[in-house]
Amino acid sequence: MSSTLVEPTPELAAEADARFEGVADPEEQALAVLRWAGETFGDSFALTSSMADGLLAHLAGRAHPGVQVVFLDTGYHFAETTGTRDWIASVTDIRVLSVQPEQTVAQQDAEFGPQLHDRDPDLCCAMRKVQPLARALAGFSAWGSGVRRDEAETRRGTKVVDWDAKRGMVKVNPLAAWTQDDVDRYTAEHQVPVNPLVEVGYASIGCAPCTRPVAPGEDPRAGRWAGRNKVECGLHT
Ligand code: SF4
Repeated sequence: MSSTLVEPTPELAAEADARFEGVADPEEQALAVLRWAGETFGDSFALTSSMADGLLAHLAGRAHPGVQVVFLDTGYHFAETTGTRDWIASVTDIRVLSVQPEQTVAQQDAEFGPQLHDRDPDLCCAMRKVQPLARALAGFSAWGSGVRRDEAETRRGTKVVDWDAKRGMVKVNPLAAWTQDDVDRYTAEHQVPVNPLVEVGYASIGCAPCTRPVAPGEDPRAGRWAGRNKVECGLHT
């Protein structure tokens, strides 16, 4: 990774957010935010993706070709998800950086007991998602993800460019203002890869033990950690 072109600051993030929030068209807004992040931070800018679809990767490949996209390879993914990751990598102009936790699932089971995800999902997410992401992003100045305001109550206030005080980084959310209609239109128009599990009712896809399909009309994230008092893995909060 090369050194950053510009030092990340809260003021820089606020100024960029004010500028890009005014772009009315969601596609133009996303491309403008991604282009700005690439031009401002160069190789010190990375995205993250759960590889549920290739929307963010497709946009990023257009705006900042060759951008690194971090995939948290938790060891608990559906085969369809890792297959979609490889599919996306083959048809978009991005570099996928698959990141593993310190412990394999077997090592975690040996130390903490099997199925920690059922007994203490916060600890499991901390070890398999939050800590690996922190390690992966160390040294970067700015990062971004595909979170949208319409996905969950906890995401209503998402800014297109924000300051991640916890990490001391600029955080971009190019899809913050996108609706499901915007996603569907762009996906069809550009033949963006979509995880085949979406077709069978998985509206939001994470690790296999913590993801179930949802009924038509049900909250898309209701299938994540269903039955548990948990809606976020801790990456975006
Ligand atoms: S989503 Fe479930 S299996 Fe994946 S890291 Fe979190 S608790 Fe563990």
